[in-house]
Amino acid sequence: MLPVVSIVGRPNVGKSTFFNRLIGRRKAIVHDEYGVTRDRHYGETFWNGRDFNIIDTGGYLPDEMNVISAGIREQVHIALEESDVILLVVDVETGINTLDKAVASLLREENKPVIVVANKADNEERRLNASEFYELGFEDLYPISSLSGMGTGDLLDKVVEYLPESQPEPENEVPKLAFIGRPNVGKSSLFNALLEDNRAIVTDIAGTTRDSLNSNLHYNDKDYVLVDTAGLRRRTKVKENIEFYSTVRTEKAIRECDIAILIVDAMQGFDAQDKRVLKEAEKFNKGLVIVLNKWDLVPEKDTNTVKEFEEYIYSNVPQLYYVPIVTISALNNKRIHNVLDMAEVVIQERKKEISTSDFNDFLENMLGEKPLPMKRGQQLKITYATQVKSEPPVFKFFMNSPHDLPPNYRKYIENKIRQQYGFIGVPITMVFRQK
Ligand code: GDP
Ligand code: GDP
Repeated sequence: MLPVVSIVGRPNVGKSTFFNRLIGRRKAIVHDEYGVTRDRHYGETFWNGRDFNIIDTGGYLPDEMNVISAGIREQVHIALEESDVILLVVDVETGINTLDKAVASLLREENKPVIVVANKADNEERRLNASEFYELGFEDLYPISSLSGMGTGDLLDKVVEYLPESQPEPENEVPKLAFIGRPNVGKSSLFNALLEDNRAIVTDIAGTTRDSLNSNLHYNDKDYVLVDTAGLRRRTKVKENIEFYSTVRTEKAIRECDIAILIVDAMQGFDAQDKRVLKEAEKFNKGLVIVLNKWDLVPEKDTNTVKEFEEYIYSNVPQLYYVPIVTISALNNKRIHNVLDMAEVVIQERKKEISTSDFNDFLENMLGEKPLPMKRGQQLKITYATQVKSEPPVFKFFMNSPHDLPPNYRKYIENKIRQQYGFIGVPITMVFRQK
């Protein structure tokens, strides 16, 4: 698991500009007004050979000043709980402000490393003015300009100094299952139902993770770690920043887990956020399962109902047609084991290894059925292919002109692989190399 650095501070100091500079993308919307929704708050970056995740806590604060202090308080607590280093961003253009002081005093309550980032220090004069922020009571103060990038190198040197030593991943790790999904879909209910069930035994395996929110489960002779994405919310009664909280937990859980289990409320259906989360998990090549919960509330079910729901889900995410769907009722303990059984299927599918001779026979047949097209007067040819790794699976194809391979042929290959070998719930990576 990568260390986490979070960026906190009042609105408009330049948190998201700074975040974007760090993750090297210009995806988030930068806007002068308060309360603009940003589309990215969690990303990965690296410096001096260290990789770490970075959270932008902006964009989650309520925009009315009377609730802002409650919002900031929660946000800072979540950031503290979830991260190893905190960057308190302030604005040298406007100078020190009562909200800066409020955030600083919350941060001083815990002893996590805090670095004050004096942003908008675009010129010499402003860089000198930055020293007024020593008043916030932290030793480390770095004037930077997020717009030009000036000063960010020295700041990152310091951040990396504070990162905890990365622990090597133990061999033969217990698979981690993460229940993700929007608030109120039933994640905690399912989590608790499984932990309380007498067919599953809660065990105590040392050293599985430094995160206390995970539980170990023994079921059907196998061990699992359940990653709880809702637990802290219950514990600290987060109210203002549910969205921030669940985004941070979800992003973290997706990176940490082996199998991402998306819980959807059958009555609420699928939305853009569910789609985004699934695609994110696919991007990280996690095993995938979709759970339709609250099945007890679906009226007038007949033999076709499951099929109709499945069609509805797949029409939302056509490229994820290979992800299995299970229907459950966490409230009534109905079919909750199917979630673990299906997760186990996906775990096994993800480990699958196809022998090179078998795969090349398959390749030959596939190419025979639908020959590769001509491109720029030349016949495209795949001469050889092999599975280079499993868990997650990666296939490598050697061909004469990889850049000319049409996307629909690529899709055709993936479909054929799935028809032949399954890989239920498992994203497949295919690389095409010049031979
Ligand atoms: P956030 O609310 O803290 O995330 O702040 P934003 O990143 O949205 O930035 C607020 C405003 O400050 C935007 O207009 C940015 O262009 C501007 N800004 C951010 N960084 C700098 C900087 O280094 N110098 C100057 N002059 N403006 C900046
Ligand atoms: P979370 O925010 O995703 O952890 O959701 P919770 O587990 O807190 O559940 C939210 C609400 O949905 C609670 O009132 C639960 O009792 C209810 N709920 C959870 N699972 C089911 C279910 O299978 N059927 C019904 N009818 N309600 C459920």
